[in-house]
Amino acid sequence: MAIQAKKPNKQATSLVALRKSQGWLRALLEHSYDAIVLTSADGKTIYASPSIQRVIGYTPEEYLAHNGAELMHPDDLEDGITFFRHLREQSGVTMPPHHTRFRHKNGSWRWIEYTATNLLTDPTIGALVFNFRDITERKHAEETQHLLAAIVASSDDVIVSKTLNGIITSWNAAAEKLFGYTAEEAVGQHITLIIPPELHQEEEVIIQKLRNGERIDHYETVRLRKDGTTVAVSLSISPVRDKEGKIIGAAKIARDITERKRAEEQQAFLSEVSTILASSLDYQTTLSTVARLAVPRLADWCAIDLVEHDGTIEQVAVFHPDQEIIAWSKQVQQLHQPEINATVGVPEVIRTGKTLFFPMVTDAMLVAAAKSKEELALMRKIGVSSCIMVPLRLQGKVFGTMTFSFTHASRHYIRADVAFAETVASRVVLAIENAQLYRQAKEAREQLEVILQNVADGIIVYNQHRQIIYANEAAAHLTGFSSVQAMLETLPNRILAQFELIDEQGHPFPLSQLPHRRVLDGEQEAQAIIGYRKSSTTQSIHWSISKARPVLDEQGKLLFVITIIHDITERLQAEQRKDEFISMASHELKTPVTSLKGFAHVLERRLRARGDEQGLAYLAKMDRQLNKLTNLISELLDISRMQTGKLVLQQEAFDLSSLVQEIVENLQLTTQTHQLCFKDTEPMLVVGDRERIGQVLINLLTNAIKYSPQADKVIVHVAKDQNHALVSVQDFGIGIAKEYHQHIFERFYQVTDPDGQTYPGLGIGLYIASEIISRHGGRIWVESAEGKGSTFALSLPLPE
Ligand code: ADP
Repeated sequence: MAIQAKKPNKQATSLVALRKSQGWLRALLEHSYDAIVLTSADGKTIYASPSIQRVIGYTPEEYLAHNGAELMHPDDLEDGITFFRHLREQSGVTMPPHHTRFRHKNGSWRWIEYTATNLLTDPTIGALVFNFRDITERKHAEETQHLLAAIVASSDDVIVSKTLNGIITSWNAAAEKLFGYTAEEAVGQHITLIIPPELHQEEEVIIQKLRNGERIDHYETVRLRKDGTTVAVSLSISPVRDKEGKIIGAAKIARDITERKRAEEQQAFLSEVSTILASSLDYQTTLSTVARLAVPRLADWCAIDLVEHDGTIEQVAVFHPDQEIIAWSKQVQQLHQPEINATVGVPEVIRTGKTLFFPMVTDAMLVAAAKSKEELALMRKIGVSSCIMVPLRLQGKVFGTMTFSFTHASRHYIRADVAFAETVASRVVLAIENAQLYRQAKEAREQLEVILQNVADGIIVYNQHRQIIYANEAAAHLTGFSSVQAMLETLPNRILAQFELIDEQGHPFPLSQLPHRRVLDGEQEAQAIIGYRKSSTTQSIHWSISKARPVLDEQGKLLFVITIIHDITERLQAEQRKDEFISMASHELKTPVTSLKGFAHVLERRLRARGDEQGLAYLAKMDRQLNKLTNLISELLDISRMQTGKLVLQQEAFDLSSLVQEIVENLQLTTQTHQLCFKDTEPMLVVGDRERIGQVLINLLTNAIKYSPQADKVIVHVAKDQNHALVSVQDFGIGIAKEYHQHIFERFYQVTDPDGQTYPGLGIGLYIASEIISRHGGRIWVESAEGKGSTFALSLPLPE
């Protein structure tokens, strides 16, 4: 029983085990993530596990109606058929996984990874067993990754990724190109590989920001190449997160901005240079500034050489950050004056007028160019690696060069820089031209200034608004200022307020009559004698004769008025003393002459009583001389009266014609040499001092006789001209040259005879005549030429 019992037990156990294993299998099939499909050898589906629905949307029942090939993507079908053929032929073999696209029930394509085992010969199964797994997501991820990798690889921008510890994890072709390290060399290295030592701190800041999840956008900095040179870059860095969102590294895009930086710097330099050049007129300093500005942005070394007057070339400006090199350069310059005929460098540019461009300067070139060991040493020390030399040209002539150099292979010039260097040079030339013009103008102005400041006359220049824009020292002193500055700082009205202005008669001088104002009001020229009395000290008066003239532009518009002030204080004072003396002397003379006259009369009576004819004849001569003396004295007294404003004129109506007639007749009696011709004229009534007008006529007639010793007649004319009475006295004597016409009416003026022949007189008759006539509102003038006789004429207003 036990055995029997055992048997069923054994059977029962295996049955249980079988059931169990079937359960497992079912569970496995039903709950498997993958779908299991069994097909017959001809491909017909005989079983599909429930998970088929999750994979391609069909229920197992629905799927049974299809076979796999129907749902496969046409492009993958061939591969599918081959797979199936191989599978069917190799019993017991499991095929390696294949990928294919199946159409999902919803119409979309899903990527399926499938494997299969040929169990056709397995008696318990007898089918082909397929395993389908949906890998659509994975496929997409892979595709995107490929795409991204392709983009990264082919990008012109440098793309580098690194861990948060700074270890480089990827390095694209652009990075290889920019930094010079291959991906093999760079990946695994620390990012400081490409960061200049002085900027290592920067990396810490960047990493800190990344840890905080921040992005860094367009951060401009400098990176180091494998060859030791630097490169300007713009960085954009973003944190890289893992699936959980934890930051595990950084992806960095770097863009080489050297070219852009260069263009920007060139532009900035140009505008800076232009401003400096425009503002400075001292070109020595200007050139030094330009050279300094060019370093380090456009050059590591910048020099300006000019051709001097004597044809030598002189380095007038040079800049390099190392002062020692500058000093050394100057020393070498002094040792070896560049030869104008040399075929290299600066002299060559000056001679040919063409820009020299050396994108790459080799040591061999330096050796060829250097004229001495010292120079070669200097050139090596400077280490010029790239260089542009442009001519400075003014009006077609090259007068210097500007040299831009990069040193120690740090940078190299490109063709575009040549055009830029030429632009800079043209600006520099413009500034030099400006500076030269300014210097010339300044020198001329300074010379003029020295002259003007040293002339004794005061010079004041007014603008159209009556403001003083220039004055010299003399002008300041003549107008009572301590300095020109003080004068310029005082307003025009205040200047006038400092003084009491008086005219020659001591009356207030009307401001509207100031010469500069008259010219501003349109007169061509104006002149006046003005006394400046310091309001406080009423005693001392400064006298000046002030002449104003306009300065006009090409269109005739008034620009300035120039006033020249000539100090006549001393002259006037001397004249005043003279007048005082004359007045005093004539008064003193008058008394003895009057008593002489009196005694002469007494004597005459006595001689007549005695019948002493000879004595009487002498006495007559004496009386004539006494009369002359009396006339002279009364003329001198007249002058004094005129000066002091004490000349009193009668106002009576009289007939001018009969006055002329009377005087002509009287004078005719005194002369035997001349015939005084006068034609009787109609009466002509004038108002004034008959005696004084008579005095004028006597003067004109006696002059006519006196100054025509060779002639025998004098013609006198009286006429009427509109509302004036005209009297003219014409002689045929020595005449008067035109240049004296104005002067003969001045006080004490006598024309000196070229033959030395002198005529007696004091030069006061015509002065008195003109004063008397002008005080009658009339005019007196002369028409004459030397040797041709003279006609003196006067006009007096006729009463209405
Ligand atoms: P004077 O006493 O010297 O004649 P006037 O004032 O009368 O003084 O004349 C001034 C000057 O004018 C004279 O010195 C003389 O040179 C010149 N003059 C005056 N009248 C005549 C004339 N009719 N012909 C030439 N010269 C004359």
